[in-house]
Amino acid sequence: MTITDADTTAAPVPTQSPYHSTYQHRVADYWNAEENAVNLELGKIDDLYHHHYGVGGVDWAVLDEDHGGSEVDPVRRRDRITAELHRLEQAQADLLAGRLGPLSPADRVLDAGCGRGGGSVVAHLRYGCRADGVTISGKQADFANEQARKRSIDDRVRYHHLDMLGTGFPSGAFAASWNNESTMYVELDLLFAEHARLLRRGGRYVTITGCYNDAYGRASREVSLINAHYICDIHPRSEYFRAMARNRLVPVHVQDLTADAIPYWQLRKQADHLVTGIEDTFLTAYENGSFQYLLIAADRV
Ligand code: SAH
Repeated sequence: MTITDADTTAAPVPTQSPYHSTYQHRVADYWNAEENAVNLELGKIDDLYHHHYGVGGVDWAVLDEDHGGSEVDPVRRRDRITAELHRLEQAQADLLAGRLGPLSPADRVLDAGCGRGGGSVVAHLRYGCRADGVTISGKQADFANEQARKRSIDDRVRYHHLDMLGTGFPSGAFAASWNNESTMYVELDLLFAEHARLLRRGGRYVTITGCYNDAYGRASREVSLINAHYICDIHPRSEYFRAMARNRLVPVHVQDLTADAIPYWQLRKQADHLVTGIEDTFLTAYENGSFQYLLIAADRV
């Protein structure tokens, strides 16, 4: 067989598949299909789309929204609940971003498991840094890139359809990196090895994650239900510290956010227009002590 020049030019450039297992295909299917109001309606408020939960105290007055002192206006009540949940999710994004610094516009940061991209925008707006988000969902990456274009920050904030366990980005190129609720989709040793490779010496890694509580024992029924709901595999608290220690990530700040996470779920449970059905499971898991919400910040040494 002869291959002509024309054929050679037309041959597609081989691209590395972002998928390294059948499991990752299924996770991508989940996120490609995901259209939950709790993500889209909240994001629409200010075009910051988050796929994580929220922290801090709730303004419970949003439930008693009354119109002119007489009747409750259901539409306004709904909007106020939506806005309040978004405020709490935004507070979580800000809490995480605050632990990444100090950073300057010369720095580059990595948002591992970036969802529809809100976290990268938050970091960029705060520090002026370049941000790269990676997600196993091609649809999310496209959505997030479109958002960045609309904001005219697409030269500084870019999203990629990639496996965070093997991004192909240059070693030591990043001043900071994070996972906001995305560590439960991967083996921690593989994940932290990739963060350690990508971060420069002295770089900062931050995660906010649900984990199961070793002091409770093994994974509870509720933890197993959460795993089944999201197709994920929640790790025990201990595993985070073991895997970080094995990968040159030294914790500098650990915060138990469990108590701070509960009000968000209490409010969300009452938001009939936004519930996904997992609200009671989260509340029980936190309240029976089997599940914890943690922030861990670590230095890459
Ligand atoms: N960090 C985001 C999204 C959290 S949802 C936020 O805070 O809004 C979990 C995300 O992890 C989804 O975007 C999903 O696509 C991503 N994810 C799961 N496994 C992944 C993998 N192996 N590589 C990259 N992203 C992954």
